[in-house]
Amino acid sequence: MQSDLEATLAHLVSIPSVSNNPAACQEILSYIKSEIEQHTLFISGDTDRESPWLIATTQDTKEPDILFAAHLDVVPADAAMFTMKKEDGKLLGRGVYDMKLAATSYLHFIRQHSKTLSQLNVGFLFTTDEEVGGFSTLAMLEMGWRPKLVFIPDGGDNWQIEELAKGLYGIELIARGKTAHGSRPWEGDNALHRILDVTTELRQLFPHQQPDDATLSVTQLTGGAAINQIADYASAKVDFRSFHKEDLALFYAELTQLTEKYGLEFTITQGGAPHIFDKSTDTAKRFLALLENTTGKPVEYTRSYGGSDARHFAEYDIPCIVIEPFGGGRHSDHEWLLASDLPRYYSLIETWALQQKFSAMSNHASAFHRQPSLS
Ligand SMILES: [Zn+2]
Repeated sequence: MQSDLEATLAHLVSIPSVSNNPAACQEILSYIKSEIEQHTLFISGDTDRESPWLIATTQDTKEPDILFAAHLDVVPADAAMFTMKKEDGKLLGRGVYDMKLAATSYLHFIRQHSKTLSQLNVGFLFTTDEEVGGFSTLAMLEMGWRPKLVFIPDGGDNWQIEELAKGLYGIELIARGKTAHGSRPWEGDNALHRILDVTTELRQLFPHQQPDDATLSVTQLTGGAAINQIADYASAKVDFRSFHKEDLALFYAELTQLTEKYGLEFTITQGGAPHIFDKSTDTAKRFLALLENTTGKPVEYTRSYGGSDARHFAEYDIPCIVIEPFGGGRHSDHEWLLASDLPRYYSLIETWALQQKFSAMSNHASAFHRQPSLS
């Protein structure tokens, strides 16, 4: 018989919530909302948009001790992948690993511990735009949400904690020039040449392309209309990544200076800080101890060259724990999750969350000070 956890995961997988399918994103978020509204939670967010999101906390605060984050959107897949299957002890389907297993665990927790929620100080975030930039996570942070720690199972494969993830800049450069006949370049202003000069100079500043380096890649180049015409417009896209905040700052400073020198415009289309796992907090220490109990071995760590929504929290110096159970094939047509890891993973989250008791004194000390004196 299918367990409750598997049934919930199968239902979430059955909603084809591809990031650019607003109807399905609405449907999946409405389902989550209708489920959690049955429990004592403080719910806010923005559900009236193409990429709806919501946050539910056990206390009336924007600073929960742990925020459990999950994106509900997935990358495209064949229709068959939206029916979850179980084969050879594996759960197969779009989103089983990336990352509907998280929303499944959170929903199950809320249902199982409905009566205990008010004694805890945790929150749950559900978004539908991670695969296309995670802008709702940014919006939430701009609205003043400041969780003390965020749990995001969106990396850190096979029970390894993501120790480091690169920060990034996605930049679009635009050059505007003046058209002329190709035979008379002095009468025009070649936008393509200026774009090429800037990207060449940037590449010379960051020439390294090895995994641990700061890497710079020109990923798109457009411009020009005919072989014998000077281009009056050109654009380039550049992807920059590094494990170090200083590299990102250096890149930004150089970019600003070069675009000024060559008269280019630029816009940041994506950004985020490097994520560095912070082992020092009590909440993280409790998690590490429980993780060792679960796996029966010392904690293992991994590094990520890609990004998740952790980068947005890192911008605000909010620590994150990024870890997933055993599975794989994210974004591929054979995405899978080890079936027996779903209850194991849930138990780990459950035990950890239940330890996060709400304490009025420690969490709202400043609020007490603002109370008028009774004497
Ligand atoms: Zn993901």
